[in-house]
Amino acid sequence: MTDQPTTATDPGCGMTVEVAHAKASGLVAEHGGQPYYFCGKGCKLEFADDPAKYLDPAYMPSMEM
Ligand SMILES: [Zn+2]
Repeated sequence: MTDQPTTATDPGCGMTVEVAHAKASGLVAEHGGQPYYFCGKGCKLEFADDPAKYLDPAYMPSMEM
């Protein structure tokens, strides 16, 4: 057993994603030396476009597409 988290929060939409699934699907982006996991390509691309926007504490994740 490890203490590795198996889920992470998608910074784009706020969804909980499975780390193993995101890794297997290539839905991982690194920013500031920290990995971020995404539910889909759309969220990853949007995050890569403007990471600061999604990491801003004032940003409210939205499920709207
Ligand atoms: Zn998402």
